[in-house]
Amino acid sequence: MLKYDAVVAGAGPAGSTAARVVAAAGARVLLIEKRARVGYPVQCAEYVPALIASEVDFGEKSIALAVGTLVTFFPDGTVTSTPAPGYILNREVFDASLAEGAVKAGAELWLKATVEDLTDTSLIIRQANGRRQEVEAGVIIGADGPLSLVARTRGWPRATLAAAVQVEMALPEPMQVTRVYFDPLYRGGYAWVFPKGKTANVGVGLVPGEITPAAALTHFLRRLGWQQQNIVRRTGGLIPVAGPYQEVHRGRVLLCGDAGGFTHPVTGAGILTAILSGRLAGEAAAAYLGSGAPLATYEESWRDLLGPALARGQAGRRRWQEEWARDGAALSKLLRQTWMV
Ligand SMILES: Cc1cc2nc3c(=O)[nH]c(=O)nc-3n(C[C@H](O)[C@H](O)[C@H](O)COP(=O)(O)OP(=O)(O)OC[C@H]3O[C@@H](n4cnc5c(N)ncnc54)[C@H](O)[C@@H]3O)c2cc1C
Repeated sequence: MLKYDAVVAGAGPAGSTAARVVAAAGARVLLIEKRARVGYPVQCAEYVPALIASEVDFGEKSIALAVGTLVTFFPDGTVTSTPAPGYILNREVFDASLAEGAVKAGAELWLKATVEDLTDTSLIIRQANGRRQEVEAGVIIGADGPLSLVARTRGWPRATLAAAVQVEMALPEPMQVTRVYFDPLYRGGYAWVFPKGKTANVGVGLVPGEITPAAALTHFLRRLGWQQQNIVRRTGGLIPVAGPYQEVHRGRVLLCGDAGGFTHPVTGAGILTAILSGRLAGEAAAAYLGSGAPLATYEESWRDLLGPALARGQAGRRRWQEEWARDGAALSKLLRQTWMV
């Protein structure tokens, strides 16, 4: 059986960051990614706050556009402008650069390799050639996204998920701001236009119920008056919206990124929290492997760094669940108290 100090499932922002941190501490690390290419196809609106630059090193090529202002359209017709400096990424380039960072730090990356099963100390991995390989691990880091097999297999409950669909389309005119639109129809979510230069990511995320995400997107494009023939790419995906699990560490398994529920429960943003939780999981794993420090230190470190913001998001999400209103004025009042607070 192959043996590694740490095995990381999933080479998204969380997994690549965790793998880099553990490998940089001198551990033998295996990073497993089921896709043939890291970060492709992109399933994201690609906005990150500017402060991400102080957390990870990514090249100019990872940035499609620098943005400074978020314009929010409320259901009662009011429109607000909020400073929200950040970048619209080229996520595929960004994710690839993070994985490259892990490899440069010494991690071994297997592509087209899928974690199929695991215990507390070993994993079954189906490799690119179709063969199953059992691997022993000192620590297992689950960074395998919103439908995490690591979490499900090790007994965590299924996450509460919102669904999002998105198109990339040619912009009728240049745009430098990000735009968010609320509508009573997009229950528990919102629509967005995030410009990338000549094109923009245009999408809707919501809690499925009375309307499907696809129907909401058709409704939104009609509202914008934008033509379906300008669409160059379609994508979509799931977003955890209940906040992190009560515990994200069990035995020798740690969860980070979407796998652990580390998205903001109101905005659905998860790239920065994936990177931060990935770093903290990596640091806890490195300390455990190096000096036997308890893996439970991860619970303390993520609560210190991310706990307050995510708890505010959870409170907002609960209010959205209970108080979402059909009436534009009532919904706008709720949104002003819970959006970007
Ligand atoms: C439509 C949409 C728009 C979004 N827009 C934004 C945005 O603008 N800004 C923002 O901050 N966040 C956004 N998000 C959320 C953001 O994309 C995620 O929070 C982020 O990607 C989480 O990173 P991660 O590394 O935890 O997981 P992921 O990026 O999902 O990476 C997980 C990786 O694990 C791999 N994997 C899964 N299962 C296995 C397995 N069994 N074996 C091996 N590999 C496996 C996957 O292939 C994937 O590469 C959006 C999400 C969606 C769906």
